[in-house]
Amino acid sequence: MVIIMKENATEENIRNVCEYVRKFNLSTHVVNGAERSIIGVIGNVEVLEDKPISAMEGVYDVVRISSPYKLVSRSAKPDNTVVRVKDVDIGGGNFVMMAGPCAVESYEQMIEAAKAVKKSGAKVLRGGAYKPRSSPYSFQGLEEEGLKILNAVGRETGMVTITEIVSSSHIDKVSKYADILQVGSRNMQNFELLKEIGKSKMPVLLKRGLSSTIEEWLNAAEYIMKEGNPNVILCERGIRTFETYTRNTLDLNAVAAVKNLSHLPVIVDPSHGTGRRDLIAPLSRAAVAVGADGLIIEVHPHPDMALSDGAQSLTPEEFDKVCSEVNKILLALKN
Ligand code: PEP
Ligand code: MN
Repeated sequence: MVIIMKENATEENIRNVCEYVRKFNLSTHVVNGAERSIIGVIGNVEVLEDKPISAMEGVYDVVRISSPYKLVSRSAKPDNTVVRVKDVDIGGGNFVMMAGPCAVESYEQMIEAAKAVKKSGAKVLRGGAYKPRSSPYSFQGLEEEGLKILNAVGRETGMVTITEIVSSSHIDKVSKYADILQVGSRNMQNFELLKEIGKSKMPVLLKRGLSSTIEEWLNAAEYIMKEGNPNVILCERGIRTFETYTRNTLDLNAVAAVKNLSHLPVIVDPSHGTGRRDLIAPLSRAAVAVGADGLIIEVHPHPDMALSDGAQSLTPEEFDKVCSEVNKILLALKN
């Protein structure tokens, strides 16, 4: 951390700041420039996070140089993290396809979807039982009944299951039925939920918030890891921009950046990232090329009858085509 002093800061101002900072077991290094002085602060500067240094007399600005997140950072752990869920490895060169309907609607819908996506190569079955919809009048999900269906279909097909968790009071219930907890975009900064998931040690897919920066997203992951849960998978699902043609703007910059900044696996969700069926295949191809560790794609046996997100859901045939294109790109990248 660097503390930049004002041009007219006095020797006493500089001394006061240094003495204050040293009280927290940090060391200081003062550099006197021609116009102003700067104070370099060395040590665990997190302790200063909530301290009012910028309000101290003579201080012009406080600039943090190191990242605020530690456990998720690649500098803390250079090797890629592999999250193992049952017999499925996610990350570290193991590309994983996750697919299934937006929402669990019935046993028949789920088993039809699961059998189809498994045949195309998906290892993880998705299906929301609690749906955080923008409108309270939209289908809210089958709740516990939906979890039971997902669980039954997962066991019947031998697939790993993932479903969204919307409240910390649901952790025991959702963990009983599903293998991976999904934290939705709208809950990325629900810090109490993140802390409880951290304590649970359950594998978790953390979606990026609709309007969250990369740093906020990684800090959210840090909340989970800080509580002792290393099984964190990140998911880029598009962000809000001025563009209205697509539902969101899939930020593939962030995928490449986060692969540099963090050791955690990164999954791409082109379904919510674009909101358009015709864009899922090209963006899936791009996600593979940019270095994603997997894809999560909405697939419905009858998209025109879907109770949620039908417009962005692929048919099983369309999904199968995406899978073979993805495999070709993966193979090309290996050679
Ligand atoms: C979903 O996966 O169906 C979902 C609601 O995703 P998001 O939280 O990214 O909007
Ligand atoms: Mn959806």
